[in-house]
Amino acid sequence: MAEALKTQIAGLLNEPACDTNRAKDEGSRRKGCTKQLTPGAAAGGCAFDGAKIALQPIVDVAHLVHAPLACEGNGWDNRGSASSGSEIYRTGFTTDLTELDIVMGNGEKKLYRAIREVIAEQAPAAVFVYATCVSALIGDDIEAVCKAATERLGTPVIPINAPGYVGSKNLGNKLAGAALYAHVIGTMEPAEPGLCDINIIGDFNLSGELWQVKPLLDRLGIRILGSISGDARYAQVAMAHRARVTMLVCSKALIGLARQLEDGYGIPFFEGSFYGISDTSAALRTLCMKLVERGAPADLIPRCEALIAQEEAATWAALASFRPRVAGKRVLLYTGGHKSWSVVSALQELGMEVVGTSVRKATEEDKGRVVEIMGDDSHMFDNMAPREMYALLREARADVLMSGGRSQFVALKARVPWVDVNQEKHEPYAGYMGMIGLLRAIDREMNNPMWADLRGPAPWEVAVQAPAPAPLRLASGSPADFEDC
Ligand code: SF4
Repeated sequence: MAEALKTQIAGLLNEPACDTNRAKDEGSRRKGCTKQLTPGAAAGGCAFDGAKIALQPIVDVAHLVHAPLACEGNGWDNRGSASSGSEIYRTGFTTDLTELDIVMGNGEKKLYRAIREVIAEQAPAAVFVYATCVSALIGDDIEAVCKAATERLGTPVIPINAPGYVGSKNLGNKLAGAALYAHVIGTMEPAEPGLCDINIIGDFNLSGELWQVKPLLDRLGIRILGSISGDARYAQVAMAHRARVTMLVCSKALIGLARQLEDGYGIPFFEGSFYGISDTSAALRTLCMKLVERGAPADLIPRCEALIAQEEAATWAALASFRPRVAGKRVLLYTGGHKSWSVVSALQELGMEVVGTSVRKATEEDKGRVVEIMGDDSHMFDNMAPREMYALLREARADVLMSGGRSQFVALKARVPWVDVNQEKHEPYAGYMGMIGLLRAIDREMNNPMWADLRGPAPWEVAVQAPAPAPLRLASGSPADFEDC
């Protein structure tokens, strides 16, 4: 690994804003949070994948992967984040490095030609160039190519140096944030900076979740100046340094970026969640309070309280008819990261019992929140083998599994309803409206009448009682009449 990248990673893994890191002694802090990588460590996402998923929601950027074809995965719509404008981000651009390119040392030239072509064909606001294991191992200097392309082609070309082998998806998120801070943030100025301008970091507008929150902010006159990176435009990222407050929505991995914005530009940040009624209200309250502290009009706070009161009342009214249908039901939550606690509190608000929540990819703070919400850590688990999950569901210790698509077949095999809560889901569950959508989805799955049929014996398992044959009745005559027939 190049020395510069090694040093950058060591810095990222020693994040001063991270509570876990702060709690360590000096020696452990210097070592950072890095762990020796083991085979399979990148299963579920390498560092390149982490960088790409964090940045791909910037919709007017061409995301160009400098790699053999397979790193990019799909050629279309790799990410379920929605756009209100440009569709450029949905196309998978790649240099498609071949063995011949590698042997002949053609990588950098091919990359430059690809950048030129994508700018000519698509006119993106910028091109993000992603390094991968192969392009990094053969020593292609993507920084130099991006610099030359920016100068000659007049479009910003940004190097994202997070090759897969350097670590996990989480590290890739951090490297993506570092690339934005180094190359994009602070390069443009807003025409009219406002006192109610905010940054939202870590919401990726998956299935349109940011759009369930934006109308609330619009009603309060709060503008999302910088979005990293749900439904974002390149210019929004470039102007993020002029926001008044940053809300870190989920991605603990991007806490370093929020802290750098605070250190470099004096923008305070706080962590919040838009899952669940009370968490949404708390996030709006904190946001308004912090904006007022930084000079926004003081009436923002009473207006926020009025909005919260109105929205909460409307949401509880909308939930009233559904709630008895799910209250008391037991949920097994198999997700991870911040969702290990934010979805738990949303489900508890609905009167459901969470029998277990996985804390895969969750930070120590996330785990602390789980303990806070659930009382202890006895319901917290890291990984659950499919066999254990199947046994748990089969023994009816949970009424519904909420997870990502990979576990859905375990649930279906155990004949238990399943609700998708991961990034591939098609329904948004954020904000007040999202709670109604979540409850509707749970009700629809759990109370579907087909479960009774599915759990009952199959038709071929039921002994068929053949009806006794009816006596042969002839219209007229006796059997002897037909003997000659
Ligand atoms: S960057 Fe490396 S680990 Fe990631 S997909 Fe490509 S080859 Fe695999």
